[in-house]
Amino acid sequence: MKADIVVIGGGIVGVLIAHELARRGEDVLIVEKRYLGSGSTFRCGTGIRQQFTDEANVRMMKRAVELRKKYHEAYGFPFKQSGYLFLWYTEEEVEYIKKAVKLQNSLGVPTRLISPDEAKEIVPLLDVSEVIAATRNPTDAKASPFYALASFAKAAREMGARIMEYTEVIGIKRKGSSIDKVITTRGEISTGIVVNATNARAKLINAMAGVPIEIPIEPYKHQSVITQPIKGGTINPMVISLRYHHAYLTQTAHGGVIGGVGVEEGPTYDLTPTYEFLRAVSEAFTKIIPALRNLRILRIRAGFYAKTPDSNPAIGRIKEIDEFYIAAGFSGHGFMMAPSVAEAVADIITKGSTSLPIDRYDPYRFERGELRSKALQMGRNSFY
Ligand SMILES: Cc1cc2nc3c(=O)[nH]c(=O)nc-3n(C[C@H](O)[C@H](O)[C@H](O)COP(=O)(O)OP(=O)(O)OC[C@H]3O[C@@H](n4cnc5c(N)ncnc54)[C@H](O)[C@@H]3O)c2cc1C
Repeated sequence: MKADIVVIGGGIVGVLIAHELARRGEDVLIVEKRYLGSGSTFRCGTGIRQQFTDEANVRMMKRAVELRKKYHEAYGFPFKQSGYLFLWYTEEEVEYIKKAVKLQNSLGVPTRLISPDEAKEIVPLLDVSEVIAATRNPTDAKASPFYALASFAKAAREMGARIMEYTEVIGIKRKGSSIDKVITTRGEISTGIVVNATNARAKLINAMAGVPIEIPIEPYKHQSVITQPIKGGTINPMVISLRYHHAYLTQTAHGGVIGGVGVEEGPTYDLTPTYEFLRAVSEAFTKIIPALRNLRILRIRAGFYAKTPDSNPAIGRIKEIDEFYIAAGFSGHGFMMAPSVAEAVADIITKGSTSLPIDRYDPYRFERGELRSKALQMGRNSFY
């Protein structure tokens, strides 16, 4: 088998990269070890936010929202701009977040600092007795990872992309500095270009290709819950409370409450759900919205945050190999970022450069000891 470009990994990032390349007329093949979405993508909490604290992440997420809107209109998958609502509890937090709001506003993201009463108007069941302020950006969003991935995969196929599921990459053959073949459990693929979009397993693929630098991406177990449905519209935005176990929660289109907390284990490839998580999530959710106390949790799902030391991904070309690219290590925000990552990766493959600010995600920064400021990450934070 032959393909001009092989994308390894059929999660949201790999599928969107293949979609963007196919849209540009490239011959692209996705190789996925299980089924599309079976990695972290189908375990994600649906959140899409632009409220970051550094310029590059705000710009990347803003572009990602623009692209999702465009494709939501074209492909019809559910995408709801119902906002994010961060709850803040101390003056120190409010001072810090005011700077972030200023930055976001300067980049065209309309976040506002609001009072606890205004927060309660948005989600009437919130307990705001300890909250001193909140931040709200109505253009943040949520989307079903299932519908989103399926819609992009269908469109990619229609534009000529090929997809091999249940096919694991087990080796990469090079001829000198060039890629020659990708070796899979279902045979060899001759190709000159490889994109590593395997997120939590990116290090294994880097080693197969002989990537000469260390890109420290490690798998950490994170879990989320889905509850029985409640009345639609009860929790429209994604509500974030860093104080209570770094919790995030919202409602899905089917009415269930989805979300998680910052109980993290790793590095590990174990995905067994834990009682510690169940306890923490129950405590946090009922503290934030006491009326959730009688709700039944239907399911716990565990997946990976593929983390780097500064919680920013590694995106770019590996210079020593013709041609090997990486887009991995999304540290808990790869679902939201995928559309702009796909655009940036397709730009550098097809045009050699991109106007998107991917310098921040330079895979060589770890070797140089140039870590970035930590990206604001859900289920983990710097305040508590
Ligand atoms: C509990 C939880 C909640 C989250 N909530 C959010 C959220 O609200 N918003 C958000 O933006 N992000 C969230 N995330 C993070 C998000 O899920 C990930 O960042 C995103 O799904 C990463 O997509 P990906 O395509 O890079 O990786 P994945 O979806 O993990 O895809 C990688 C794929 O590579 C495949 N693969 C691996 N090795 C091989 C191989 N050798 N050969 C072939 N295929 C291989 C895997 O099978 C997998 O399907 C959450 C994550 C978790 C765990």
